[in-house]
Amino acid sequence: MANDQVTYANGASFFRNTACEYFPCHEGVDESEFNCLFCYCPLYALGPHCGGNFTYTKKGVKDCTACTLLHHGSDGARIVMERFGLLNEMARQGGVAEAADLGSEGPTA
Ligand code: SF4
Repeated sequence: MANDQVTYANGASFFRNTACEYFPCHEGVDESEFNCLFCYCPLYALGPHCGGNFTYTKKGVKDCTACTLLHHGSDGARIVMERFGLLNEMARQGGVAEAADLGSEGPTA
């Protein structure tokens, strides 16, 4: 079966799609516990405060290629919830408006 979905007692979810052409998209995680739930990382917008293993390209784009923070089993949901307050604070302070100001002149990879 290509898709595995399990819901744990604590409410966190696990989803693995081995049929994805990019699976496994990050190295360093056992394939049996590779969680695809956060394929697009909800912590990306936190910039340097996400807690993950990122770098910045020469053009200033955040590069998460080496990060496995949210892909280990069901840990990802807990980690996102631990940082949800930061996401909420960023949104409350107008982070979205500042990002929109970048328009099409934002950095490209
Ligand atoms: S470094 Fe990891 S935790 Fe941080 S935004 Fe990238 S994928 Fe998410």
